[in-house]
Amino acid sequence: NVVLVAKGIVKTFGNHTALNNVDLALHSGEVHALLGENGAGKSTLIKIITGAYTPDHGEISVDGVLVQFTTPQQAQSAGIGTVYQEVNLLPNMTVIDNLFIGRQPRRYGFVDRKKMAREAHRILSQYGLDIDVHAELSTFSVAVQQIIAIARAVELSGKVLILDEPTASLDRTEVEKLFEIVRRLKARGLAIVFITHFLDQVFELSDRVTVLRNGRLVGSETIGDLDRTS
Ligand code: ADP
Ligand code: ADP
Repeated sequence: NVVLVAKGIVKTFGNHTALNNVDLALHSGEVHALLGENGAGKSTLIKIITGAYTPDHGEISVDGVLVQFTTPQQAQSAGIGTVYQEVNLLPNMTVIDNLFIGRQPRRYGFVDRKKMAREAHRILSQYGLDIDVHAELSTFSVAVQQIIAIARAVELSGKVLILDEPTASLDRTEVEKLFEIVRRLKARGLAIVFITHFLDQVFELSDRVTVLRNGRLVGSETIGDLDRTS
């Protein structure tokens, strides 16, 4: 079923139209690849979905309800989490702090470090990570940091996960681990957006593909249909 719908999105910067009447529908339990050359409008679309930009025209609905996010926090509260290529965490803070800072105090209001450490271990074990959660984030590889960023985004948001070029700086083994995690999140019912330049990874991981070109929607197909027509 459809979790998020963006309809007729228009966004201009000065006299440049970055998005021209773009639609996007994200389904739960699917990986949706978003493709396009540099400048096609991918980041702008993501920023609109996540409340970082406001569209000039168009509508976004989450679970059938119209939304108007004006801050990324609002999008996050509505279940939309984003992980950027340049891991959007705090490198000089501990893994624990990176997982829990900015959390709803009602849900994660504990101040007991031992309790937090236990919870951090419990969460990260679901992602195949058994690490020292008291260590500074920067002491871990980019791949591990990225998994921590995904864990944070999923725990914080939990409906839509946007991965912006997540494999750009990973080696093949790390990519495999990441894909395993993504497949597990898919099975949990998340709607995942996968922005990448690697076409082989699109076919390997995605269920649906949307292509943007110069701010326009070129097409949106299931992988099955794309395979049949190619
Ligand atoms: P992509 O992510 O596909 O590379 P972007 O969404 O970043 O594309 O960019 C789409 C177009 O919008 C580009 O021409 C880009 O220069 C322009 N653009 C994006 N953000 C801004 C901004 N804040 N101000 C002006 N132009 C922008
Ligand atoms: P990224 O390419 O990493 O997504 P951003 O799009 O966030 O970077 O751009 C960083 C800053 O530059 C933002 O303040 C954005 O508004 C601005 N910006 C991005 N593209 C353009 C552009 N083509 N012209 C003017 N400003 C831009």
